[in-house]
Amino acid sequence: MSKRRSALPSALPLLLCLKRDGHALPLCGLGVPCPSPAKVENRPRNMRITRLAPSPTGALHLGNARTFLINWLLARQNNWKIVLRIEDIDGPRIKSGADQQAIEDLRWLGLDWDDGPIYQTKRLPLYQQATHRLLATGHAYPCICTRKEIELAASAPHAEDGAAVYPGTCRGRFSSIEAATASAERPPAIRFAVPDKDLIFTDVFRGEVTINPARQLGDFVIAKADGTPAYQLAVVIDDADAGITDIVRGDDLLDSTPRQMLLYQALGMAGQTPRYWHLPLIVGEDGRRLAKRHGDTRLSHYRDRGVPASRVLALLARWCGVGSVQHIALNAMLEQFDVARIPREHITFTATDDAWLQSAQISAR
Ligand SMILES: [Zn+2]
Repeated sequence: MSKRRSALPSALPLLLCLKRDGHALPLCGLGVPCPSPAKVENRPRNMRITRLAPSPTGALHLGNARTFLINWLLARQNNWKIVLRIEDIDGPRIKSGADQQAIEDLRWLGLDWDDGPIYQTKRLPLYQQATHRLLATGHAYPCICTRKEIELAASAPHAEDGAAVYPGTCRGRFSSIEAATASAERPPAIRFAVPDKDLIFTDVFRGEVTINPARQLGDFVIAKADGTPAYQLAVVIDDADAGITDIVRGDDLLDSTPRQMLLYQALGMAGQTPRYWHLPLIVGEDGRRLAKRHGDTRLSHYRDRGVPASRVLALLARWCGVGSVQHIALNAMLEQFDVARIPREHITFTATDDAWLQSAQISAR
């Protein structure tokens, strides 16, 4: 059952922070100084750190598991540190107990980590401070547009993910959050103002990627109207804080990368921008990203039916370029895994794969 979190942060601190003609006060409404840009890092130079970051909006399925597995294999082969982070700020979509389920699923595969779990919901003041800072430095502004208004904007082009590109209606429109609130009679969302220039970065898997954030993505939300931080901002604050140097994730998040890089820059942390590894996705037979519509591919589903982890790992091994085996232990995979052999194309999960997994059921567990 989906359970709405009751502890949504209030938008009030933002109001307090900007109450004088839109200029930030030295202390924000939370009673703490607005954050300074780059943190002094307390990790050894050259140490590489990555994170496993499940979102408890549902159980881990084979697609997520394969991303986490590759992330873990890369880390353990290269002596990177691993942080476990639970991305649980997406209030209405968070499922009660799904965090524990994700931890259990990861452990069932044999994956481990050195630090965490870190819960995003325990870090809300940090995201609010960063929002203050971005407002105060002119990198962000209040927006009172509804989703419908944005979609109806006749000229609005659509980003690759299908969402309408925000047309910039509220940029420069309000002198303060209070003014925006008074105008709409409700609290505004906060958007990041993206610069109108190409951004180029090198993805370890995809190579050089060029994107024009203004044209292709638009000004994006960093804090929702209800005061909750948006994914893009929370992730950057958390990654910077934990000293994350390498982010390994599915390439459905490729569009997030320029947004996150711009946030690093605007927060004075450009030097901490991590390396990105965007992996080709696991898709269903219809070519779409593996999801519920493709049947039950949750790890717990197979585990409950008596399919051993070694069988699931064997399917994942094929998807990681390790080769075709009937069963494989995680240690063996760690020895055999070669990042250069990861398939570069999207991989299709088929009904045959599902039957193959299920055929390994063992009666006595
Ligand atoms: Zn707006």
